Formats: sequence, structure tokens, C-alpha cells
Amino acid sequence: MTDETLDDPRYEKYREAGDILSTVMNEASERVEVGASQLEVAEFAEERIRELGGECAFPVNISVDEEASHATPARDDDTEFGEEMVCLDVGVHVDGWIADAATTIDLTDTPDLVAAAEEALDAAVDTIAAGVHTGEVGRAIEDAVRGRGYTPILNLSGHGVDQYDAHTGPSVPNRGVDTGIELEVGDVLAVEPFATTGQGKVGEGNDAQIYELSGSGGRSVRNRQARQLLEDIEADFGQLPFAVRWLDDDRAEMLLRRLERQGVVEGHPVLKEDDGVLVSQAEHTLIVTEDGCEVTTEGIF
Ligand code: MN
Ligand code: MN
Repeated sequence: MTDETLDDPRYEKYREAGDILSTVMNEASERVEVGASQLEVAEFAEERIRELGGECAFPVNISVDEEASHATPARDDDTEFGEEMVCLDVGVHVDGWIADAATTIDLTDTPDLVAAAEEALDAAVDTIAAGVHTGEVGRAIEDAVRGRGYTPILNLSGHGVDQYDAHTGPSVPNRGVDTGIELEVGDVLAVEPFATTGQGKVGEGNDAQIYELSGSGGRSVRNRQARQLLEDIEADFGQLPFAVRWLDDDRAEMLLRRLERQGVVEGHPVLKEDDGVLVSQAEHTLIVTEDGCEVTTEGIF
């Protein structure tokens, strides 16, 4: 494939989603301060996405300190930001074409932890081009993070995005490994290095506030309320992840657990490092070109 691949109209939608995301991220970041409400920041960002002509590709993620991913405020959540390491991860789509980006706001004064993730992302962007192996990108990320004296999170990866698909191949590791996978012109990737003061490995917490329809499992749900909720989810979110607080039903959490036991939906528990550890993240979405890449969310950093 050549750069002519990039004439496909889908790439204009990817760029539009990226522009919306950049604007929203900058506005939302300014609202992150000690004492501000997490829920207000998340809802502000989600409303702005729609005002600007986009849709949420997934709930706004707000991860603090040892949390790395899949954290979003619950319904009526009154949690305020403290002196914390705050990762904002936002997804926008336009007609299903997705932009996914993250930035970290340091309310702790930890030297260079944010820089470690941002420099790793820059190094990845500089490395990416058609024909480059994903493991070379991971090597650039790992070297940059370790160069700042921190550890990359090794069991989280970047990923491809596709229409109405927020996580698809190819996987982009945050470490130098031989994947055997070569990037191609037109691949759209979300590249997301994490830097941590911890061991570089996240595990699952207990609480899930983000769910999505599961690929497996039939759709024969006998409980009437659960079946109604499932129909609403299919109509409103399709295959994209959604927040429990987006569901207009006080029993949503209980019904989702019922649907999860039947294999119809899947919860995404918070992914986190050990207690007392800090995590930073930087993420862009980009389009692979013949001799480099085009970042669709470049307005953020
Ligand atoms: Mn993301
Ligand atoms: Mn991502």
C-alpha cells in the first residue's frame, strides 16, 4: 500500500475526531485541580465532545496515583481531586472513526514522571513509519521511560482502532520485544506509554464502572428488566464501552452483574499498580504513512 490509501474519506473523520478530542482535552485539563469534582470534569468533557459534533468512543477515564486505566466516576460520585497524579484518557468518534488520547496532570510535584511518558510518546511517534516493527516502537518507549529513571507498564499496550472498534490490532507494546508485526500505511494506532514508580505491572481492582457488550454468549436474557437494559445498551452504545453512570436506571449495576454472569456483557475493572505507586500516561492516535505518521490528536501536548 502507498500513501494513496490515505485518500479514503475515513481519514477525514479520524482527523475530525482528533481535533475535537484535542480541544476537549485542553479544556478539561484546566479543570483538574485539588478540590475539583472528578464527576464534573468527566461530565464536562463528555458534554463538550457532543457539543463539538463528536460522540464518546468510551467513558472519560480519570485514573489517579496507582490507577492506570478503566477508572471512571460512578453515578453521584462525590470524589474530589487531591494532591494526586491524574491521568485523563478521552475517546471521541465521528461516525465511528475513533480518536483516543491521554494526558497526565501532576498535582503531586513528582519530578519527571509526566515527562517520562510524554518523551516516550514522542520517541514512539519519531520511530513509527510503514515497515517498522511494533517491537521497535516498544523499544523506543522503554528506553525513553527508563532514561528518566522510571519503569514502563509492561502489561499494557497501545492498539489499533477501527470503525466502532476502540481496541483492535496491531498491539503496540510498551517494551522492546520481537513481535514480528510490521506497520503498514493507513494503520491507525493509539500509542500509549505509561511510566511508573512501581514494578511496571498492573492488576485488576474490584470495582468496574465501565462495561461493554461481550462478543460471546447468546442474547437470550429471560429477566425482563435485564433484557430491556440490554436492548438499550445495544441501541445506544453498540460494541463501544460505556459507563454505568450513563445508564438511566438505578438498578443498572445489579442488572449488569446479572448480564455479566450470562456472558452478555463484560466489566472492565480498574487496572492498577501497587498501593503507594504513581503512574503517568501519554497517548496519541496517529495514522501510519509511508515515511512517518500523522498524529490526529497533536493539539494536546
Ligand atoms: Mn486511551
Ligand atoms: Mn488507548
